Amino acid sequence: MKRYALVTGASRGIGRAIAIELAKDGCSILLNYKSNHAAAEEAKRLIEEAGGEAELIPFDVSQPDAINAALDAWFAAHPDDYIDVLVNNAGIVDDDLMLMMEPEQWHRVIDVNLNGFFYCTRRVIEGMVENHHGRIINISSIAGQKGHPGQVNYAAAKAALIGATKELATELAPKTITVNAVAPGMIETEMAEQVAEYMPERMRDMNTIPMRRLGKPEEVAYLVSFLCSDKANYISGQVIGINGAAL
Ligand code: NAP
Repeated sequence: MKRYALVTGASRGIGRAIAIELAKDGCSILLNYKSNHAAAEEAKRLIEEAGGEAELIPFDVSQPDAINAALDAWFAAHPDDYIDVLVNNAGIVDDDLMLMMEPEQWHRVIDVNLNGFFYCTRRVIEGMVENHHGRIINISSIAGQKGHPGQVNYAAAKAALIGATKELATELAPKTITVNAVAPGMIETEMAEQVAEYMPERMRDMNTIPMRRLGKPEEVAYLVSFLCSDKANYISGQVIGINGAAL
């Protein structure tokens, strides 16, 4: 029986690296993204080049009807399968100082980073519970653990993901489903470039990172791969930072 892994936001950045690594581990990848079809096709090509397999499953994680329509269709086409690994990775930033932040900025960031976790997980855990096995990884952030100016919306969503991870881990432990959060520091992706554009000079300074460099998406992917493996059977409800000793 194939082991299916749904990785949200897997067309680019950290999600793409996770999808490639899980494919190398033998998972068949459900590669989610929102709208960047070219990037998603390239991610699929890289997975196939690495000897894995992937199918594209675009939907907006903040839209429960779209999620259910896409996953209902997938389950209908795979009546004997379930999704054993869910990586809630899709995320956005929309930074501003609180004084300037518009309600839309608050809601958009909460909708994608936090409500997306709820909608996707709610739909996917049914199969894990029935099959008494599963792995859920929530990609949080150092921003949910430590303050950064301009990210009240993002920090609130990422900190809430940590709380949800700890709680859900206790609910699902009897079903042999582990739930963990991974909290990256600054990782070399398009999101980091976007944040760096308006970050104060002192924060862009690599001196704030004891390892004096940004992390690589692959480094996050190795951690996720480990958490999804049998080697991590007894690890659940944890928040694992990957930040070059920045916290
Ligand atoms: P990225 O390079 O900007 O890629 C974002 C990915 O999420 C893309 O695949 C994008 O799809 C997808 N996405 C965005 N909104 C979506 C939506 N509404 N529905 C479905 N997919 C959506 O971001 P990244 O840096 O890899 O970040 C990945 C995760 O790591 C995020 O949760 C982020 O908060 C977290 N994180 C990042 C850093 C960092 O420094 N990079 C640090 C800590 C935590 P399209 O290609 O279709 O747009």
